Amino acid sequence: MTFPDPAAGARAHLFNDRTLESYRHSLAAGIDRVSARIATTGPFSGITPDELGPEISRIDLDRPLADPAAALDELEEVYLRDAVYFHHPRYLAHLNCPVVIPALLGEAVLTAVNSSLDTWDQSAGGTLIERRLIDWTAERIGLGPDADGVFTSGGSQSNFQALLLAREEALAAAAPLPRHEVLPRLRVIASRAGHFSVQKSAKMLGLSPDAVITVETDQSRRMKPAVLARELERCRREGLPVLAVVATAGTTDFGSIDPLPEIAAACAAAGVWLHVDAAYGCGLLASRRRRHLLDGIERADSVTVDYHKSFFQPVSSSALLVRDGAVLRHATYHADYLNPARMAERRIPNQVDKSVQTTRRFDALKLWLTLRVMGADAVGELFDEVVDRAAAAYELLAEDPRFEVVTRSQLSTVVFRYLPTGPGRAFADDANLYAREALAASGAAVVAGTKVDGHHFLKFTLLNPETTLDDIAHVLDLIAGHAAGHVDRKTAAQELCRAAG
Ligand SMILES: *Cc1c(COP(=O)(O)O)cnc(C)c1O
Repeated sequence: MTFPDPAAGARAHLFNDRTLESYRHSLAAGIDRVSARIATTGPFSGITPDELGPEISRIDLDRPLADPAAALDELEEVYLRDAVYFHHPRYLAHLNCPVVIPALLGEAVLTAVNSSLDTWDQSAGGTLIERRLIDWTAERIGLGPDADGVFTSGGSQSNFQALLLAREEALAAAAPLPRHEVLPRLRVIASRAGHFSVQKSAKMLGLSPDAVITVETDQSRRMKPAVLARELERCRREGLPVLAVVATAGTTDFGSIDPLPEIAAACAAAGVWLHVDAAYGCGLLASRRRRHLLDGIERADSVTVDYHKSFFQPVSSSALLVRDGAVLRHATYHADYLNPARMAERRIPNQVDKSVQTTRRFDALKLWLTLRVMGADAVGELFDEVVDRAAAAYELLAEDPRFEVVTRSQLSTVVFRYLPTGPGRAFADDANLYAREALAASGAAVVAGTKVDGHHFLKFTLLNPETTLDDIAHVLDLIAGHAAGHVDRKTAAQELCRAAG
């Protein structure tokens, strides 16, 4: 028999008690395709948008293929063949982790059941599972008995919601001054190495364009607490209410963890909300060897965690935690059709009361099955391993005269650049830009790039315990090869120009 049954028409595609064979068959076929790819693929094919664009444009979306196998054949050509594969040990670029199988199982289950976590009457057990995981995370952070939180779509949304709650608290504290007078004066203080979602959130929250004050960082890219104290004092003097200080526990580029105890003390002294963005560093919550690096996080008013960064979870999986669950009321709106106030009075657990989203995925199930199958220690071991690897990669680079390495990361990034010698030095920026692109185009490995003091640098973000030091050494050789070739061509061209006068 073929699936779906052609005689049954459109209804054959509905997932229900009569189509279970088709469900199993279809999903198994999808799993087989992915498995076949994973068995053979590199990290990236090197395809360009110009090459792939026309392939996707020419597909007629009004002429369905009907057969899932045919659709998968087509998908092979437009997606699977050229996707970027994070499980590959030579994918070293961004904060994308390889994922654990219990989480993939969770993903398959949650998509099929399709609970929506906004209200109890659309979710039931899912609501309680999410709440348990929020409590579990808050306890690992040490936020105390009144803590609460909610799963979000990612660190950007978590940061946004944290600042939304903090803004409302700051506006309430400024009463009876009217909102419209206070709003343009509100400030957020973050480190220069903090995440751009802080700036974006400030914009979405209606703050003034200069609302975010960035504090300079030390050699290892950690916020300078003395400068923070100075800025807090300046804001106080100038009558600019600081709605929050954002400390970062694991900066995206450098994996640096701001000095949380000192920052917490400064916030407490100034009576200012402390938000800790641990989107990246949250993996330490599961580490038995390095949990102490997060000391001080327990003093935060709110914390962002991205399980999809360092808990080996598929996108999306993130949460916002708050010390005082009552502040989540700023995200509450009672709609007659969904969560009328009388439901809250009857203590019906409607998560929409705490979220900026309405219909919301049961992402928590992935973490749940991960903890139930592997346990947190196993997750922490995986993360510890990549942190160890980054330290070894740093040593490798520090001893290699071809490269300059910026700083020893507390987590798992390594920021470095190829440094040409002699007159080629002038082409350093160009050479690193070129090497990164050439490497990706070759399909051998994928690395990231960033800027340090105006110069182009390269970045490894190591999140895969399967990446060996040999992989790293090999990729460094490839980078040096591409970069040196580029510098040679550039200097030769310059010589020619000079000779031609
Ligand atoms: C990745 C990251 C974010 C944003 O998280 P998303 O899940 O990508 O939205 C915020 N802060 C830091 C420090 C990050 O590394």
